[in-house]
Amino acid sequence: MRYELLADTYGELESTTKKLAKTEIVSKLIKKTPIENLEEVVMLLTGKVFPPWAEHEIGVANQMMIKAIAKATGASDKEVVDKFRKSGDLGLTAEAFTEKKRQRTLGSEELTVKKVFANFREIAEQSGSGSQDRKLGLLAELLSSAKPKEALYIARTVLEQLRVGVAEGLIRNAIAQAFELKPEDVENAWNFLPDYGEIAKIAKEKGAKGLQKIDLKLGTPCNVLLAEKAPDLKTAIESFEHVLLQYKYDGMRSLIHKKGEKIWIFTRRLEDVTKAFPEIADYAKKALKAKEIIIDGETLALDAKTGRPIPFQKLSTRIKRKYDVEKAMKEIPVQINVFDILYLDGKTLFDKTQRERFEILKEEVKEIKDKFRIADSLITKDLEKAEKYYKESLAAGHEGLIVKNLDSLYIPGRSVAGGWLKIKPVMENLDLVIVGGMWGSGKRAGTVGSLILGIRDADTGKFLECGMLGTGLKEKESEQEGSITLKEITKMLRPLIISEDGNNLKIKPKIVIEVGYQEIQKSPTYASNYALRFPRFIRMRPDKAAEEADDTERLKKLYEMQKITKK
Ligand code: AMP
Repeated sequence: MRYELLADTYGELESTTKKLAKTEIVSKLIKKTPIENLEEVVMLLTGKVFPPWAEHEIGVANQMMIKAIAKATGASDKEVVDKFRKSGDLGLTAEAFTEKKRQRTLGSEELTVKKVFANFREIAEQSGSGSQDRKLGLLAELLSSAKPKEALYIARTVLEQLRVGVAEGLIRNAIAQAFELKPEDVENAWNFLPDYGEIAKIAKEKGAKGLQKIDLKLGTPCNVLLAEKAPDLKTAIESFEHVLLQYKYDGMRSLIHKKGEKIWIFTRRLEDVTKAFPEIADYAKKALKAKEIIIDGETLALDAKTGRPIPFQKLSTRIKRKYDVEKAMKEIPVQINVFDILYLDGKTLFDKTQRERFEILKEEVKEIKDKFRIADSLITKDLEKAEKYYKESLAAGHEGLIVKNLDSLYIPGRSVAGGWLKIKPVMENLDLVIVGGMWGSGKRAGTVGSLILGIRDADTGKFLECGMLGTGLKEKESEQEGSITLKEITKMLRPLIISEDGNNLKIKPKIVIEVGYQEIQKSPTYASNYALRFPRFIRMRPDKAAEEADDTERLKKLYEMQKITKK
């Protein structure tokens, strides 16, 4: 298959922004692509030459591209640079110089998809001494045979600037359309084998039946089961008949594959991070008894001194690391907490319930203290016990809980309704009462510029000051429900003014507003003993009387909760 056909398709894709039209264009190309080119064409459509878990990535720097254009077209580096400066686009620069050259010489060899794909891969795989020259040679070889339009897209692909709008969802629909399949069938297959190049081949050769037969393969990552949000712990545990609670660790989702002595570690984004975490591979060899096994877990970074978990940002510096891995191992020690098993000695466990899988996991894992653990777990439906467990998780420095349905199955890539629910604390908004204010100045003169907020004392019913709100109120009208302008709020407050002292106003506690904030702090100045840090106006609560606003009990509770989470 000629590369020109692909270049024409890129051009067509650029001429429309409509998704359906793009899908049609891609599907037509996929349909007429011979089987031996299908994988390459599907990958190249998305600008890739490797699946996400491959070690190499295509990508050359501008400097290399400038040299390659010069070498291939006989222009000088300076000429290429000058042209590039004008357009700011090396793709267009490559196209223009190829065009010029074509006017002088007659076309040479025709570029095939196979040749372009092979050279792209070779470019990505070069390393060590002399690699820059070899890369340049491979790239110049392609450009010197390219027609202008081909040069444009060759350049954009290796510069990783191919923006033709073909993302995963579009490829999925195009494959389905080309081979008359349901998009869900294509997506399901992709969840087991996240490589649309291979999926397209199987779809063409074997149809829906072939797709259904796709299974997990050791050494190839699959998409992971995801958790859904739950509003609160009570709702979460009431959602299922049988419940497994687990600590929610804030780290890197890690799927460990073991085949004999070979270990792979994959992330949720399908990257292979085995080389960045050699210690996990070592622990896995010791901790996992089975010959062939795939388990699911979360890798956590720990404080080297205290052993407490540290934020994900630190761990993330280890994820793509190729150099100084040993040093990073010492500085940022890790622990893995495993919570599921997908595959054991030749068989997937997708027909087993969460309860059965967890039992098998416990049998198959020999824990290594503080290094390779089974996730902290508790089976209970008792709300009090669950709340206590939640607090323990937060107090230990973790994110919250995952509430799991013991009767559910593991389906890769999907948050299965009735599977996993996540619970973590959020800073909840407070409904507060306006107890005072200050006249604005400048543009805001004649209106109330800032508001003093009061919280209802749970014992006495009095309103105690807890913060001052100066932002979030607009001078202009907004469409949003519950929003209000400064003028309007001034009109509401005027009849409620109790007294004025200079700019300061005391206001009868009648009006309730919802307030967001960053943090609750202890305060010696406010009568409530608490102060909201960075309070902001969310909306009016005309549906609430002052007596129904939040009280000091709730404020205290939120303060305590925040203390636990912050530790
Ligand atoms: P989130 O990233 O907030 O959507 O929460 C879901 C993620 O929590 C999962 O993808 C895992 O990476 C992580 N996680 C931490 N602990 C667990 C656990 N015990 N079970 C399942 N997932 C967990």
